[in-house]
Amino acid sequence: MSPTEPVDPSTTAVTAGRPQRIPEAPLNTPIVPASSFIAGGELAYAREANPTGVAFEEALGALEGGIAIAFASGMAAANAVFDTLAHGARVLATRPAYAGVAGRLRELHDAGRIDLNFVDAEDAEALVSAAGDVDMVWLESPTNPMLVVPPVERMIAAAQRRGATVVFDNTFATPLLQRPLDLGADIVMHSATKSLSGHSDLLMGALVVRSDAQAEQFRTRRVLLGAAPSAFDSYLALRGLRTIALRVERAQNTARVLAKHLATHPAISRVRYPGFGTMMAIEVAGTPAQTDAVCEATSIWVHATSLGGVESLLERRRSWAMEDALVPETLIRLSVGIEHPDDLWTDLSRALTQATT
Ligand code: PLP
Repeated sequence: MSPTEPVDPSTTAVTAGRPQRIPEAPLNTPIVPASSFIAGGELAYAREANPTGVAFEEALGALEGGIAIAFASGMAAANAVFDTLAHGARVLATRPAYAGVAGRLRELHDAGRIDLNFVDAEDAEALVSAAGDVDMVWLESPTNPMLVVPPVERMIAAAQRRGATVVFDNTFATPLLQRPLDLGADIVMHSATKSLSGHSDLLMGALVVRSDAQAEQFRTRRVLLGAAPSAFDSYLALRGLRTIALRVERAQNTARVLAKHLATHPAISRVRYPGFGTMMAIEVAGTPAQTDAVCEATSIWVHATSLGGVESLLERRRSWAMEDALVPETLIRLSVGIEHPDDLWTDLSRALTQATT
Protein backbone atom coordinates (compact mmCIF):
# COMPACT_ATOMS: atom_id res chain seq x y z
CA MET A 1 0.00 0.00 0.00
CA SER A 2 1.31 3.48 -0.80
CA PRO A 3 2.02 5.69 2.23
CA THR A 4 -0.69 8.08 3.43
CA GLU A 5 0.45 11.64 2.64
CA PRO A 6 -0.36 14.07 5.48
CA VAL A 7 -2.75 16.84 4.44
CA ASP A 8 -2.24 18.98 7.51
CA PRO A 9 1.03 20.53 8.76
CA SER A 10 0.22 19.49 12.32
CA THR A 11 0.65 15.90 11.14
CA THR A 12 3.79 16.67 9.13
CA ALA A 13 5.37 18.29 12.20
CA VAL A 14 5.00 14.96 14.00
CA THR A 15 5.80 12.52 11.20
CA ALA A 16 8.60 14.13 9.15
CA GLY A 17 12.28 13.55 9.86
CA ARG A 18 11.88 10.16 11.57
CA PRO A 19 14.25 7.20 11.23
CA GLN A 20 13.22 4.40 8.88
CA ARG A 21 10.52 2.09 10.27
CA ILE A 22 12.55 -1.06 10.70
CA PRO A 23 12.58 -3.35 13.72
CA GLU A 24 14.39 -1.90 16.73
CA ALA A 25 15.07 1.44 15.05
CA PRO A 26 14.59 4.28 17.53
CA LEU A 27 11.45 6.38 17.08
CA ASN A 28 13.52 9.58 17.24
CA THR A 29 16.77 10.30 15.45
CA PRO A 30 19.30 10.12 18.28
CA ILE A 31 21.86 12.76 19.18
CA VAL A 32 25.03 11.76 17.35
CA PRO A 33 27.91 13.49 19.17
CA ALA A 34 30.60 13.04 16.53
CA SER A 35 32.78 15.58 14.79
CA SER A 36 33.95 12.98 12.30
CA PHE A 37 32.48 9.88 10.67
CA ILE A 38 34.10 6.71 9.36
CA ALA A 39 35.28 7.40 5.81
CA GLY A 40 33.64 5.86 2.77
CA GLY A 41 30.07 7.13 3.09
CA GLU A 42 28.22 10.38 2.57
CA LEU A 43 28.72 11.70 6.11
CA ALA A 44 32.31 12.77 6.71
CA TYR A 45 32.67 15.77 9.03
CA ALA A 46 30.13 17.46 11.31
CA ARG A 47 30.70 20.91 9.86
CA GLU A 48 29.19 19.49 6.65
CA ALA A 49 26.28 17.66 8.29
CA ASN A 50 25.32 15.55 11.28
CA PRO A 51 22.45 13.02 11.31
CA THR A 52 20.45 14.89 13.99
CA GLY A 53 20.63 18.11 12.01
CA VAL A 54 19.59 16.29 8.84
CA ALA A 55 16.47 14.96 10.63
CA PHE A 56 15.55 18.52 11.68
CA GLU A 57 16.09 19.69 8.09
CA GLU A 58 13.78 16.99 6.76
CA ALA A 59 10.98 18.06 9.10
CA LEU A 60 11.37 21.81 8.47
CA GLY A 61 11.68 21.26 4.70
CA ALA A 62 8.45 19.27 4.71
CA LEU A 63 6.67 22.03 6.65
CA GLU A 64 7.88 24.88 4.40
CA GLY A 65 7.54 22.89 1.16
CA GLY A 66 11.23 23.06 0.21
CA ILE A 67 14.74 21.89 1.08
CA ALA A 68 15.99 23.08 4.49
CA ILE A 69 19.59 23.78 5.48
CA ALA A 70 20.12 24.21 9.24
CA PHE A 71 22.54 26.78 10.66
CA ALA A 72 24.02 27.60 14.06
CA SER A 73 21.71 30.62 14.47
CA GLY A 74 19.30 32.78 12.53
CA MET A 75 22.07 35.33 11.99
CA ALA A 76 24.36 32.58 10.64
CA ALA A 77 21.62 31.69 8.13
CA ALA A 78 21.15 35.35 7.18
CA ASN A 79 24.89 35.86 6.74
CA ALA A 80 25.10 32.79 4.49
CA VAL A 81 22.63 34.58 2.22
CA PHE A 82 24.49 37.91 2.39
CA ASP A 83 27.68 36.01 1.53
CA THR A 84 26.25 35.14 -1.88
CA LEU A 85 25.61 38.78 -2.84
CA ALA A 86 27.73 40.10 -5.69
CA HIS A 87 29.88 43.14 -4.95
CA GLY A 88 27.72 46.23 -5.38
CA ALA A 89 24.43 44.27 -5.31
CA ARG A 90 21.37 46.41 -4.63
CA VAL A 91 19.37 45.22 -1.63
CA LEU A 92 15.95 46.36 -0.42
CA ALA A 93 14.92 45.78 3.19
CA THR A 94 11.92 46.98 5.16
CA ARG A 95 12.51 49.48 7.91
CA PRO A 96 12.37 48.50 10.68
CA ALA A 97 13.55 44.95 10.22
CA TYR A 98 15.04 42.69 12.89
CA ALA A 99 17.83 44.84 14.36
CA GLY A 100 20.58 42.22 13.89
CA VAL A 101 19.80 41.73 10.21
CA ALA A 102 19.39 45.48 9.68
CA GLY A 103 22.68 46.16 11.45
CA ARG A 104 24.54 43.64 9.32
CA LEU A 105 23.05 45.04 6.11
CA ARG A 106 24.12 48.53 7.18
CA GLU A 107 27.65 47.26 7.86
CA LEU A 108 27.85 45.72 4.40
CA HIS A 109 26.55 48.96 2.90
CA ASP A 110 29.02 51.11 4.84
CA ALA A 111 31.89 48.83 3.78
CA GLY A 112 30.93 49.40 0.13
CA ARG A 113 29.94 45.75 -0.41
CA ILE A 114 26.27 46.38 -1.17
CA ASP A 115 23.96 49.26 -2.01
CA LEU A 116 21.22 49.20 0.64
CA ASN A 117 17.79 50.71 0.22
CA PHE A 118 15.82 50.76 3.49
CA VAL A 119 12.15 51.60 2.93
CA ASP A 120 9.55 52.27 5.64
CA ALA A 121 7.51 49.06 6.05
CA GLU A 122 4.32 51.15 6.24
CA ASP A 123 4.92 52.80 2.84
CA ALA A 124 3.37 50.12 0.62
CA GLU A 125 3.74 51.96 -2.69
CA ALA A 126 7.41 52.84 -2.10
CA LEU A 127 8.12 49.20 -1.19
CA VAL A 128 6.52 47.82 -4.33
CA SER A 129 8.31 50.26 -6.60
CA ALA A 130 11.67 49.69 -4.85
CA ALA A 131 11.22 45.90 -5.11
CA GLY A 132 11.29 46.24 -8.89
CA ASP A 133 14.64 48.02 -8.82
CA VAL A 134 17.01 45.83 -6.78
CA ASP A 135 18.91 42.52 -6.93
CA MET A 136 17.66 41.18 -3.59
CA VAL A 137 14.57 41.87 -1.51
CA TRP A 138 14.83 41.07 2.20
CA LEU A 139 11.32 40.64 3.54
CA GLU A 140 9.95 40.22 7.03
CA SER A 141 6.23 39.82 7.51
CA PRO A 142 4.98 40.64 10.06
CA THR A 143 7.96 42.89 10.78
CA ASN A 144 9.97 42.81 13.98
CA PRO A 145 9.09 44.62 16.24
CA MET A 146 6.35 46.80 14.70
CA LEU A 147 4.15 43.94 13.42
CA VAL A 148 3.60 45.62 10.04
CA VAL A 149 2.43 43.40 7.18
CA PRO A 150 4.03 44.79 4.01
CA PRO A 151 2.42 44.22 0.57
CA VAL A 152 4.29 40.96 0.23
CA GLU A 153 2.60 39.57 -2.87
CA ARG A 154 2.96 42.79 -4.88
CA MET A 155 6.59 43.14 -3.79
CA ILE A 156 7.37 39.56 -4.82
CA ALA A 157 5.69 40.09 -8.20
CA ALA A 158 7.73 43.28 -8.78
CA ALA A 159 10.95 41.54 -7.76
CA GLN A 160 10.19 38.59 -10.02
CA ARG A 161 9.68 40.86 -13.04
CA ARG A 162 13.20 42.17 -12.52
CA GLY A 163 14.65 38.73 -11.70
CA ALA A 164 15.59 39.76 -8.14
CA THR A 165 16.02 37.19 -5.37
CA VAL A 166 13.38 37.37 -2.62
CA VAL A 167 14.44 36.25 0.86
CA PHE A 168 11.60 35.97 3.37
CA ASP A 169 12.23 35.85 7.12
CA ASN A 170 9.35 33.67 8.33
CA THR A 171 10.38 33.62 11.99
CA PHE A 172 7.29 35.44 13.29
CA ALA A 173 4.57 33.64 11.32
CA THR A 174 6.09 30.13 11.13
CA PRO A 175 5.21 27.69 8.30
CA LEU A 176 2.00 26.87 10.16
CA LEU A 177 0.55 30.28 9.29
CA GLN A 178 2.42 31.31 6.15
CA ARG A 179 4.55 29.51 3.54
CA PRO A 180 6.71 32.06 1.69
CA LEU A 181 7.80 29.63 -1.06
CA ASP A 182 4.12 29.26 -2.01
CA LEU A 183 3.93 33.06 -2.19
CA GLY A 184 6.82 33.12 -4.67
CA ALA A 185 9.82 33.80 -2.39
CA ASP A 186 13.11 32.19 -3.43
CA ILE A 187 14.58 31.63 0.04
CA VAL A 188 12.89 31.31 3.44
CA MET A 189 14.94 32.26 6.46
CA HIS A 190 14.26 31.28 10.09
CA SER A 191 15.58 31.98 13.49
CA ALA A 192 14.86 28.43 14.72
CA THR A 193 15.74 29.78 18.14
CA LYS A 194 12.12 30.99 18.29
CA SER A 195 8.78 29.30 17.55
CA LEU A 196 10.16 26.39 15.53
CA SER A 197 11.96 25.00 18.58
CA GLY A 198 9.69 26.82 21.02
CA HIS A 199 11.36 26.40 24.42
CA SER A 200 13.95 29.19 24.61
CA ASP A 201 16.71 26.66 25.19
CA LEU A 202 18.86 26.80 22.05
CA LEU A 203 20.18 28.95 19.21
CA MET A 204 19.61 27.74 15.66
CA GLY A 205 18.67 29.04 12.24
CA ALA A 206 17.67 27.70 8.85
CA LEU A 207 17.21 28.51 5.19
CA VAL A 208 14.64 26.74 3.05
CA VAL A 209 15.00 26.77 -0.74
CA ARG A 210 13.33 25.24 -3.80
CA SER A 211 16.13 23.62 -5.79
CA ASP A 212 18.99 21.21 -5.15
CA ALA A 213 21.37 23.75 -6.68
CA GLN A 214 20.36 26.44 -4.15
CA ALA A 215 20.59 23.92 -1.30
CA GLU A 216 24.09 22.92 -2.37
CA GLN A 217 25.12 26.56 -2.56
CA PHE A 218 24.05 27.15 1.05
CA ARG A 219 25.48 23.87 2.35
CA THR A 220 28.80 25.05 0.94
CA ARG A 221 28.36 28.42 2.68
CA ARG A 222 27.70 26.56 5.93
CA VAL A 223 30.88 24.51 5.61
CA LEU A 224 33.06 27.46 4.64
CA LEU A 225 31.61 29.85 7.21
CA GLY A 226 31.68 27.23 9.96
CA ALA A 227 28.03 27.87 10.71
CA ALA A 228 26.75 24.33 11.39
CA PRO A 229 24.39 23.66 14.32
CA SER A 230 25.35 21.20 17.05
CA ALA A 231 23.81 17.74 17.21
CA PHE A 232 22.40 18.50 20.66
CA ASP A 233 20.69 21.73 19.57
CA SER A 234 19.37 19.99 16.45
CA TYR A 235 17.82 17.32 18.66
CA LEU A 236 16.16 19.88 20.94
CA ALA A 237 14.92 21.86 17.94
CA LEU A 238 13.33 18.82 16.35
CA ARG A 239 11.81 17.75 19.65
CA GLY A 240 10.30 21.22 20.02
CA LEU A 241 9.11 21.29 16.41
CA ARG A 242 6.93 18.22 17.04
CA THR A 243 4.50 20.36 19.09
CA ILE A 244 4.57 23.52 16.99
CA ALA A 245 0.96 23.21 15.86
CA LEU A 246 -0.33 22.98 19.44
CA ARG A 247 1.88 25.80 20.66
CA VAL A 248 1.16 28.21 17.82
CA GLU A 249 -2.58 27.55 17.85
CA ARG A 250 -2.81 28.06 21.59
CA ALA A 251 -0.61 31.17 21.67
CA GLN A 252 -2.35 32.69 18.64
CA ASN A 253 -5.78 32.24 20.25
CA THR A 254 -4.47 33.91 23.38
CA ALA A 255 -2.87 36.73 21.39
CA ARG A 256 -6.22 37.46 19.74
CA VAL A 257 -7.94 37.64 23.13
CA LEU A 258 -5.20 39.84 24.58
CA ALA A 259 -5.27 42.20 21.58
CA LYS A 260 -8.96 42.88 22.25
CA HIS A 261 -8.47 43.39 25.99
CA LEU A 262 -5.39 45.57 25.54
CA ALA A 263 -7.22 47.90 23.16
CA THR A 264 -9.45 48.92 26.08
CA HIS A 265 -6.66 49.55 28.60
CA PRO A 266 -6.22 53.26 29.45
CA ALA A 267 -2.43 52.92 29.80
CA ILE A 268 -2.05 51.92 26.14
CA SER A 269 -2.12 54.30 23.18
CA ARG A 270 -1.81 51.69 20.46
CA VAL A 271 -2.02 47.92 20.04
CA ARG A 272 -0.19 46.45 17.09
CA TYR A 273 -1.50 43.02 16.20
CA PRO A 274 -1.89 41.93 12.58
CA GLY A 275 -4.77 39.54 13.41
CA PHE A 276 -2.66 36.38 13.22
CA GLY A 277 0.40 34.96 14.94
CA THR A 278 1.78 34.92 18.43
CA MET A 279 3.58 38.28 18.41
CA MET A 280 2.20 41.72 19.17
CA ALA A 281 3.35 45.12 20.35
CA ILE A 282 1.78 47.79 22.53
CA GLU A 283 2.63 51.44 22.88
CA VAL A 284 2.40 52.67 26.46
CA ALA A 285 0.76 56.07 26.97
CA GLY A 286 3.56 57.28 29.21
CA THR A 287 7.32 57.72 29.42
CA PRO A 288 10.11 55.27 28.54
CA ALA A 289 10.79 54.96 32.31
CA GLN A 290 7.15 54.01 32.93
CA THR A 291 7.39 51.55 30.06
CA ASP A 292 10.46 49.96 31.65
CA ALA A 293 8.51 49.81 34.91
CA VAL A 294 5.71 47.85 33.18
CA CYS A 295 8.26 45.26 32.04
CA GLU A 296 9.59 44.99 35.60
CA ALA A 297 6.17 44.77 37.24
CA THR A 298 4.89 41.52 35.73
CA SER A 299 5.32 38.21 37.51
CA ILE A 300 3.96 35.75 34.92
CA TRP A 301 5.23 37.52 31.80
CA VAL A 302 9.02 37.45 31.88
CA HIS A 303 11.08 40.56 31.16
CA ALA A 304 13.49 39.09 28.64
CA THR A 305 14.39 39.40 24.99
CA SER A 306 13.63 36.82 22.28
CA LEU A 307 10.30 35.26 21.35
CA GLY A 308 8.40 32.18 20.25
CA GLY A 309 8.84 30.13 23.43
CA VAL A 310 6.20 28.53 25.64
CA GLU A 311 6.79 31.36 28.14
CA SER A 312 5.33 34.80 27.50
CA LEU A 313 8.06 37.45 27.24
CA LEU A 314 8.02 41.22 27.04
CA GLU A 315 10.60 43.93 26.50
CA ARG A 316 10.88 47.60 25.55
CA ARG A 317 12.61 47.33 22.20
CA ARG A 318 14.26 50.76 22.31
CA SER A 319 16.14 49.65 25.42
CA TRP A 320 18.43 48.07 22.79
CA ALA A 321 20.83 50.67 21.36
CA MET A 322 20.78 48.95 17.97
CA GLU A 323 16.98 49.14 17.58
CA ASP A 324 15.68 51.35 14.76
CA ALA A 325 14.79 54.94 15.70
CA LEU A 326 11.47 54.47 13.89
CA VAL A 327 10.38 52.22 16.76
CA PRO A 328 8.53 54.30 19.39
CA GLU A 329 10.38 54.67 22.72
CA THR A 330 7.41 53.25 24.62
CA LEU A 331 6.82 50.22 22.39
CA ILE A 332 6.76 46.92 24.26
CA ARG A 333 7.07 43.80 22.14
CA LEU A 334 5.03 40.90 23.50
CA SER A 335 5.74 37.28 22.69
CA VAL A 336 2.67 35.33 23.73
CA GLY A 337 3.27 31.89 25.22
CA ILE A 338 0.99 29.05 26.18
CA GLU A 339 -0.02 30.09 29.72
CA HIS A 340 -3.73 30.61 30.36
CA PRO A 341 -5.00 33.84 28.71
CA ASP A 342 -6.78 34.96 31.91
CA ASP A 343 -3.54 34.79 33.89
CA LEU A 344 -1.62 36.64 31.19
CA TRP A 345 -4.24 39.37 31.01
CA THR A 346 -4.47 39.81 34.79
CA ASP A 347 -0.70 40.02 35.13
CA LEU A 348 -0.18 42.46 32.27
CA SER A 349 -3.13 44.74 33.01
CA ARG A 350 -2.07 45.02 36.67
CA ALA A 351 1.51 45.84 35.64
CA LEU A 352 0.28 48.47 33.17
CA THR A 353 -1.92 50.15 35.76
CA GLN A 354 0.68 49.98 38.53
CA ALA A 355 3.50 51.40 36.43
CA THR A 356 1.59 54.24 34.82
CA THR A 357 -0.51 55.68 37.68
N1 PLP B 1 15.04 37.19 12.42
C1 PLP B 1 14.16 37.59 13.36
C2 PLP B 1 12.80 38.06 12.94
C3 PLP B 1 14.54 37.57 14.70
O1 PLP B 1 13.64 37.98 15.63
C4 PLP B 1 15.83 37.13 15.06
C5 PLP B 1 16.27 37.12 16.47
O2 PLP B 1 15.65 37.72 17.33
C6 PLP B 1 16.71 36.73 14.05
C7 PLP B 1 16.27 36.76 12.74
C8 PLP B 1 18.09 36.28 14.38
O3 PLP B 1 18.07 34.97 14.88
P1 PLP B 1 19.12 34.37 15.94
O4 PLP B 1 18.97 35.14 17.20
O5 PLP B 1 18.71 32.92 16.04
O6 PLP B 1 20.49 34.52 15.35
